[in-house]
Amino acid sequence: MKLHLLKVWLSIFNKEMADNENWNIVKKKEKDNKVQKLPGVTITCSWCKKDFSFAGKDQVYYQSKGFDPPKKCKDCRDKKKQIAAAKQAAEVAQDDQNE
Ligand SMILES: [Zn+2]
Repeated sequence: MKLHLLKVWLSIFNKEMADNENWNIVKKKEKDNKVQKLPGVTITCSWCKKDFSFAGKDQVYYQSKGFDPPKKCKDCRDKKKQIAAAKQAAEVAQDDQNE
């Protein structure tokens, strides 16, 4: 009986020590596990109509930023960025001509 109590006490003590020392590591692992458990979803790109996967970790990132899920695949988002950059460059060039 005494030995049993000692074992219980030791297990509680060890757990508390481990909790204190590894708290941040444990927390991080829990977070990583959650991220990995989220299933990826398949979204159809609104531009090229191809299916692309929206990975679980990306969903967490989008949610944390308050973004809506992407409507376009990565290729089309890159294209859109290039078009936007080209437009901006053209506008800047026009402004220069107007002055
Ligand atoms: Zn696309």
